[in-house]
Amino acid sequence: EGRLSPDEIKALVRTVPDFPVPGIQFRDITTVIGHPRALASSVHHLADMAREGGAEDIAGMEARGFIFGAAVSIALGTGFIPVRKPGKLPVEVIGVEYDLEYGKDRLEMDPGAIRPGQKVSIVDDLIATGGTALAAIELLRRAGAVVEQALFVIDLPDLGGARRLREAGVDVRTLMEFE
Ligand code: AMP
Repeated sequence: EGRLSPDEIKALVRTVPDFPVPGIQFRDITTVIGHPRALASSVHHLADMAREGGAEDIAGMEARGFIFGAAVSIALGTGFIPVRKPGKLPVEVIGVEYDLEYGKDRLEMDPGAIRPGQKVSIVDDLIATGGTALAAIELLRRAGAVVEQALFVIDLPDLGGARRLREAGVDVRTLMEFE
């Protein structure tokens, strides 16, 4: 009845070859969040890391970062800052373009969501090249946040994202790796 270990959670991740394009092994967390104990355990592992990192607020990237990030916020008792796909927010936003493992995208946020100097940890399901996370960190820092920690369920270390974030002064913690 206790918490599932990261290895037990890892066994529940579904790997789908050649999605969304040939050559990509898609690591699908649908099967993790559909499993009650795996969902709660993932959130509690991430929340422990966020607490250790002194997070005063949590930011999550649309869309899978919302699932884990909002849950971590509730576990910690912080607010939640949505980092959004373009055109979704009804106010003046700040935005940044970035490269994906497969394609290009843009993230936007409401700069008013940050209190200057607030310590924010970012949460997403997976880090690959780190492009998405670096874009989110840039936005949050532009809005005045102090970003020193990034949390992910899954790391793909061969793609170098965690290293790029560490070079940007961000401590990266993840529950599991896939080669
Ligand atoms: P990146 O910006 O390259 O670090 O890519 C991270 C974002 O793309 C995350 O939000 C992931 O959800 C998604 N992503 C990238 N590669 C994969 C993959 N192999 N399997 C599942 N999701 C991925």
